[in-house]
Amino acid sequence: MFNKVLIANRGEIALRILRACKELGIQTVAVHSTADANAMHVKLADESVCIGPPASRDSYLNIHEIMAACEITGADAIHPGYGFLSENAKFADILEAHNITFIGPSAEHIRVMGDKIEAKKTAKRLGIPVVPGSEGEVRENDEAMRVASEIGYPVIIKAAAGGGGRGMKVVNSEKEMKQALQTTRSEAGAAFGDDAVYIEKFLGKPRHIEIQVMGDGKGGGIHLWERDCSLQRRHQKVWEEAVSPALDDAARRKIGDICAKAIQGLGYSGAGTIEFLYEDGEFYFIEMNTRLQVEHPVTEMITRIDLVNEQLQVAAGQGMSVTQDDVILTGHAIECRINAEHPSTFVPSPGEITYYHPPGGLGVRVDSGVYQGYKIPPHYDSLIGKLIVHARTREECLRRLSRALDEFVIEGVETTIPLFRDLVTNADMQTGDYDIHWLEKYLAAKNA
Ligand code: ADP
Repeated sequence: MFNKVLIANRGEIALRILRACKELGIQTVAVHSTADANAMHVKLADESVCIGPPASRDSYLNIHEIMAACEITGADAIHPGYGFLSENAKFADILEAHNITFIGPSAEHIRVMGDKIEAKKTAKRLGIPVVPGSEGEVRENDEAMRVASEIGYPVIIKAAAGGGGRGMKVVNSEKEMKQALQTTRSEAGAAFGDDAVYIEKFLGKPRHIEIQVMGDGKGGGIHLWERDCSLQRRHQKVWEEAVSPALDDAARRKIGDICAKAIQGLGYSGAGTIEFLYEDGEFYFIEMNTRLQVEHPVTEMITRIDLVNEQLQVAAGQGMSVTQDDVILTGHAIECRINAEHPSTFVPSPGEITYYHPPGGLGVRVDSGVYQGYKIPPHYDSLIGKLIVHARTREECLRRLSRALDEFVIEGVETTIPLFRDLVTNADMQTGDYDIHWLEKYLAAKNA
């Protein structure tokens, strides 16, 4: 096992990784920007190194400074968390060249899955069902029109290098195509430095269902069931649950098996997520994330498997501690992303937390790096914590969530807690009858 791990991230995920390291007896190094000198992960790490000013590009994305911190502290591995450098193949290459372990998959797998066109081709080859669409990149309007008329409107044009819900445009009819193709290509070029786009069928009322997978890098691979992340605002997840209220056991097992086989076929190493849209009983692959996800705790709660612990073991060459048969489903879990934002306008609300009281009790988990007196810096995303609840059934889970939300007090800044209090009692949320457009419609009606 590693002697010392450097955590190249901040906030709740840095703390999450630190906890797993401590339980394995691994020394931890926190890196931080000047804006994060008082962050919890910095206080709890064995060592910490300031790597630059607040702007992410000068600190958390600054490979040179992170490598220097690694050298100074003698860390033998780096965990990138999510976001920042977690899906940066060049970073993984640099670490390999310096004999430092990247806790994640190979640079090659990051590269393949980071290009959505390549990812889709690879998925298809591995037997994963994909959304009908163009075979690859589409450059000319004639070709776009031909593909769209074959699959039928509406279609969606997506940037091959897109991410974070950006670089997508829905096209409703032939006459919108030319303009939309031009706009998405130039926007993709400007935003991602790659103007390649492709076309796929736009699904009208899908759910977003993703499968957690884990590979040992030696041909062994398992799935850890699904998460339903259909509750989204601007393509960003807000509430995630496991298992999905839309799947029965047979469907769940079938897609899980397909994903586990694909991971074995790839020879994938570490944790990953295969994302699908699910409509009318069919799964359609959209992308694979080659890292730990924000919403990984719901999977941990229903399987009782520590995913970061498994990542560390696999990266250290020790393989996984579980086989497919050990991944036993128990109960239901829901996660709410608590953002420091106004609950209906979603305007960020950085500043000092003047009072903080997290909920507790059976089946309640709070992953957060904040504390009373902590000043939320304005430089990063507004996620300040995650409330995760687990119970025997979905019904019991909703009741527990409602109780936990009532206990949760954060003062001094606005948070999205009031939004979740409304959602948990909503009739559609109670029955689990919601698709990826549900929240936008709900918010539009509420703010009208
Ligand atoms: P990103 O990498 O930016 O997260 P994804 O390909 O994962 O992009 O898509 C993000 C979200 O965009 C999906 O969860 C879904 O809400 C929407 N989306 C993507 N592809 C389609 C599609 N073919 N039809 C309908 N919605 C889509």
